[in-house]
Parts: sequence; structure tokens; C-alpha cells
Amino acid sequence: SPLIVWFRQDLRLNDNPALAAAAASGRPVIALYILETATGDWALGSAARWWLHHSLAKLTAALRKQYGLQLVLRRGNPATLLPALLRETDAGAVYWSRVYEPAGISRDTTIKAALQTSSIEVETHNAALLFEPWTVKTQAGGWFKVFTPFWRACLAQPSPAPQRAPKTLTPYTGALDSDALDSWGLLPTRPDWAGGLRDSWTPGEAGATERLQAFIDKDLYRYADGRDRPDLNCTSRLSPHLHFGEISPRQVWHAVQMAADQGGAGIAQNAAKFLSEIGWREFCHHLLFHFPTLPQQNFRSDFDAFPWNPNADHVKAWQAGSTGYPIVDAGMRQLWHTGWMHNRVRMIAASFLIKHLLQDWRVGEAWFWDTLVDANLANNAGGWQWVAGSGADAAPYFRIFNPIMQGEKFDPEGDYVRRWVPELAQLPNKYIHKPWAAPDGVLKQAGLVLGRDYPLPVVDHDTARKAALAAFAALRNDA
Ligand code: FAD
Repeated sequence: SPLIVWFRQDLRLNDNPALAAAAASGRPVIALYILETATGDWALGSAARWWLHHSLAKLTAALRKQYGLQLVLRRGNPATLLPALLRETDAGAVYWSRVYEPAGISRDTTIKAALQTSSIEVETHNAALLFEPWTVKTQAGGWFKVFTPFWRACLAQPSPAPQRAPKTLTPYTGALDSDALDSWGLLPTRPDWAGGLRDSWTPGEAGATERLQAFIDKDLYRYADGRDRPDLNCTSRLSPHLHFGEISPRQVWHAVQMAADQGGAGIAQNAAKFLSEIGWREFCHHLLFHFPTLPQQNFRSDFDAFPWNPNADHVKAWQAGSTGYPIVDAGMRQLWHTGWMHNRVRMIAASFLIKHLLQDWRVGEAWFWDTLVDANLANNAGGWQWVAGSGADAAPYFRIFNPIMQGEKFDPEGDYVRRWVPELAQLPNKYIHKPWAAPDGVLKQAGLVLGRDYPLPVVDHDTARKAALAAFAALRNDA
């Protein structure tokens, strides 16, 4: 009987074990994607919806071209849509790739049990992680809360190997109803704010593969030193591709290892650093799997008493990139324009919201969720809790990033700020990260009136720093 491959966050043909197993079975294959309507707290953000649209368009074309296979698009609740499609096609099996978000796990567990009760065969596969959360254990058999020993334990496991796309498969030939992708309304229309996204990205498996190759060819050799420099822009920018499963971490791992093997010691050291960042992705998924409330609850419960100071104007200034701190504003505008922000700047901008403005990290997490093309429940929650100091293996709370010094260190010529905050473009390097300190003559020469062309700082750094430390001390005293 036919079998259904249910695509979810594995929108690719290569190294897709569910698809490979379906092809190997020789049974007629039905390819399905379901847009869920009851999505709970973490419905797709706006930028992710844009990406998903394009990724599905690419997957549709690739399946058709490679196998003559239709990607059936349906919208609603998988718990009812799957049995309906099984009945409609007389299919006897469903294959899918596992996910690690709590809502996805509970959905899949329920569906799997119900299908098995109806004698439908269910096969699930690992397509998204190098090492699944339950396979990496401490010596005592527990789960890891600290990255370094976690990653050491991962590296002691056999090296993960990717599979190629099946050469052929038997497509199901019956006619199946499918929604038109456009009818899902995933793209913004009025206004169409996605121009910057279109200019920045090529969603889909081919775009992901090209991105990986370009990174290996052009930037891997300088990754370890360059990765903290937003002005150099030399990280892989694979995060949205990895999130949607257009490329697998096994493929990334394998290609980077091969480059390291061929490229000598210089490349090997950069490759190890890069793979350890892939390791952070694994670690965040490990944390989320074992601590499913990570996206909404402080990992360290002593943080529950933190005296946040909600202020809608401050949040708005942060979101709009008008805090008056150039490195923060550059990052927030890069995010708004391209759906992505450099990791160093994510840390600076997040720290600024939490520590300078004393806004709850969950407010920032929600904004990132809506605006990032790589919005990922595990990595986003992991990142925010790390910066807040409320997380596992987190930066200590009292380490407060100084946005001026961070800017001067990691964007030394101010190129990144000039690109995203063009009103500051004429300022000399000396003041590019602290325009308020520039003498009147310098401002005049740069054609800049602070408070008119660019905001004055929403808070004073030293005052904010002291307030943050006082809030932290209060927490300590409470505990
Ligand atoms: P590269 O440096 O090229 O790294 C390669 C891959 O490793 C990335 O694509 C990503 O999958 C993974 N990775 C790298 N750094 C981290 C990290 N610190 N944590 C987890 N995985 C990592 N990443 C997301 O994918 N989605 C998010 O929603 C997200 N939210 C974040 C929020 C905050 C506050 C912070 C500080 C970080 C967040 N990150 C998130 C992690 C990181 O910033 C991005 O993964 C990275 O900037 C993506 O760019 P890249 O692909 O060029 O990274």
C-alpha cells in the first residue's frame, strides 16, 4: 500500500532519512506538508512565514523535478488531516522526521499512538540533530546543563554521516487535492515589508547548499577570529536554512570536516570552532528537550523574583533601533531589514534590553520570534536565557555589556554601524559608537543634530549599569 512522507522541519531531499526510507520501500509515495492552524503560544512569526512560503515553493519544484512527485499542501489539524489522507489513498504508513519542541513532541506522540491503534505503520527519523537529546548522557546517566562537557560527550560519539537523496522513488499517481500555496497567505502584502528579506536570502535546499559552499570557500579560514566581528560578516548565515531543515547538521558537519581534512591545521582550528557553534545548537535542543519550559520559564528559578521595570516606550525604542546606542540600533535595524542579526550583536542588543532597560527577557524573545527568519524555539530561548543570566551555563548576570566598548572592539572602524545607521555615516571613528560625546564642531561637520537626526541615549550607560546591579543585588538578597 502507499505511504505518506509528512514533511515538517526537513524541507529537503538530501539526507532526509524519512524520504530515503520511503523510496527504499518501493511503495508508492505521497508527499505531504500541513500548515497547522491551532498553533498555541509559538505560532510562526512573520519573518518565518515569509521563509516557509519560499521554502515550500522550492520543495514543491524539487520533488516534482526529481521524482515527478506532488507535494500535497493541506491546512488544519494534522490529527484529523493525516487519517483523512490515509483513508483517501488507502495508504498504510506514515514516515516523518522528529522535532524537539514540546508542542511538536506532544502532537506527534498523540498522532503516532492513534495511527498505530488503527494499524497504520509509523516510522520516525532523526533529520535535525547530530546527536539526539536522549543519546547524550552524563556519567551518572542524567542530562547536561553545561556546554563544554556536553560537547565533549558528543564528540566522543561516532561521526555523523549524511545520506544522499534517493535517486528514484515510486510516486503515488492518484490525483490529490492540494491547497494553492498562495492561498495560505504566508507572504506579507499590505504593506509588503519583505524587500530586505528577498535581497538577503535564497530559501530552499539549493540556496542552503550554495550558502554552505560559499562559507567554506570564502570564510571558514577566518571564522574563529572573525566570527565576533559584525563588520566582517564572515559567519555562515546558515541558521534559517538549518531551522527549516533545508540542510542538515550532518551535511554541514561532513562538508566542514572534509574541508578541514584537506586544508591543514589553519582550517582545522577554524572548523573545530565552527562545529562547536553547531554544538551550541545541539545543546539548546538538548536543554529544551529536557527542560520544556525553557521558552517561558527562568531556568534558574531564583530569577523569578527579578524586579523588571516594564516600559513600553523603552521597548519601542529598542525594537525600532532608536535607543541612541549605535551598535544596538544597527543590530535592531539589521534584524528589521533582513530578518537576521549577527550573533555578537544579538548578545549586545539582548543585554541592553535586559540590563540597561530592565525589560523582561521574554519581551525580547517574543520580538526576535516574530522578526527573525531563523526564529527557533530552542536557540532563541537558549540565547535569551544565556544573556539574561537566568539560563543553564549562562553569562553571569553582573557581566553587563558596555555597548560603547563592545562596539569599539567588534566594529572597530564603525563599518557595521555606518551600514545600518546611515545618519551617523559622516561621524569620525572616534565618535561612531558614542555620538553624544562628539564636540559640537564634529557633529556639525557630520551634518548631525542629536535628538533630531539620531536620538540621544534613552538611558545613560553608567546610571543604567548601577540600576541593573542594584536590581541584581535585590534578587540576591531575596534568595
Ligand atoms: P554561525 O556562526 O555560522 O554558526 C553556525 C550555526 O551554528 C548557526 O547557523 C546556528 O545554527 C548554530 N549556532 C551558532 N551560534 C549559536 C548559539 N549561540 N546558539 C545556538 N545555535 C548557534 N539562533 C537561531 O538559530 N535561532 C534563534 O532564534 C536564535 N536566537 C538567538 C537569540 C539571542 C538573544 C542570541 C544571543 C542568540 C540567538 N541565536 C539564535 C544564536 C545565534 O545568534 C545564531 O544561530 C547565529 O547568529 C546565526 O548566524 P550564523 O548561521 O551565521 O551562525
